[in-house]
Amino acid sequence: MDKLIHKAGIADIAERVYAGERIDDAMGVRLYECKDVHALGLLANYVRERKNGNRATYVYNLYINYSNVCILSCQFCAFARRPKQEGGFQYDVDEMIHLAREAYEQGASEVHIVGGLNPKLPFQYYLDFISGIKKACPEMMVKAFTAIEIRHLAERINKKSIRETLEELRSVGLAALTGGGAEIFDPEVRDKICRGKETADEWIEVHKIWHQMGQRSTCTMLYGHIETLQQRVDHLRRLRELQDETKGFTAFVPFAFEPENNKLSYLKRVTAMEDLRNLAVSRIYLDNFDHITAYWISMGLPLAQIALSYGVDDLHGTIQKERIFHMAGSQTPQEQRVATLERAIREAGREPARRNTVYDIIPDAVTRRATEPASTEVPA
Ligand code: SF4
Repeated sequence: MDKLIHKAGIADIAERVYAGERIDDAMGVRLYECKDVHALGLLANYVRERKNGNRATYVYNLYINYSNVCILSCQFCAFARRPKQEGGFQYDVDEMIHLAREAYEQGASEVHIVGGLNPKLPFQYYLDFISGIKKACPEMMVKAFTAIEIRHLAERINKKSIRETLEELRSVGLAALTGGGAEIFDPEVRDKICRGKETADEWIEVHKIWHQMGQRSTCTMLYGHIETLQQRVDHLRRLRELQDETKGFTAFVPFAFEPENNKLSYLKRVTAMEDLRNLAVSRIYLDNFDHITAYWISMGLPLAQIALSYGVDDLHGTIQKERIFHMAGSQTPQEQRVATLERAIREAGREPARRNTVYDIIPDAVTRRATEPASTEVPA
């Protein structure tokens, strides 16, 4: 066993990991407490390689945040505006279809759509933008809505059950749910960072129903604010339990709290080492997840590239037009070129592969590079 792992005091945990055995919560906390991030990375990299070989993926996608009008006021959120508050916006259906078509014609295979809990938009608006995008871009996969948006649509707008609402959205082309809104599951933390949002059980219920319908989703963690390491492990445990039951999660996508322009601005963003530590521990703990994604919008592409040696096997996507993190102060670019993502993967020693929304590889993916969005960041 590597000396680094011995020296870091995690040799017993590594023995279990090498034997293909699951680690428990106490071990998860010990990993988070481990001072040597590189020892964690070594172990996480072993798990990554066992699951994904030398391949690292990305998706050619487009983000659309259809509206920032929201009836909630999560303390960490810099994106939302109350109804009638200055700065609120919403996209027209035609505008969304136009944006999706533009990206589709350049080679995008996914449109990722989330927004606030807008009390005024009728259910037909959501059906129209999904069906309109599918009509204009038949091969494009529509990944949309966090669990709280689904609950809002079901309970306040559509006034039907969660399952019926999901079935109606699926019938017009919804392919996958996004993983947002999970934050940290612990109720005391939720009360301090997103009072009024759904509980952990309610978040899990939406994903469970969606998985039981045979569909896939991602899941997330918002870390680096007021949570304890035990609460991070509790969060991971609940995700691992649901994955044992449904096998519906494609990937885990953690991201750090961004402290600007929100009610928690007195906190500081975690450092790069903590981003790497969280990814490595997640890779080791979530033994039933195929993929761990580094969200470069939050950590930046250079660090996401390094994370490919700390348990990560996916760099998310080209994204374009991200607003939620940037309104909270993220200094990363809003988009990346396919060529930039592929170069980052290659220079990290991995083989790049383009994937679709559910992490299946798209063989021989072709991009019209001449029309790709310009990159503002080069990994180095
Ligand atoms: S995080 Fe989502 S639900 Fe909370 S205030 Fe922001 S837009 Fe609304």
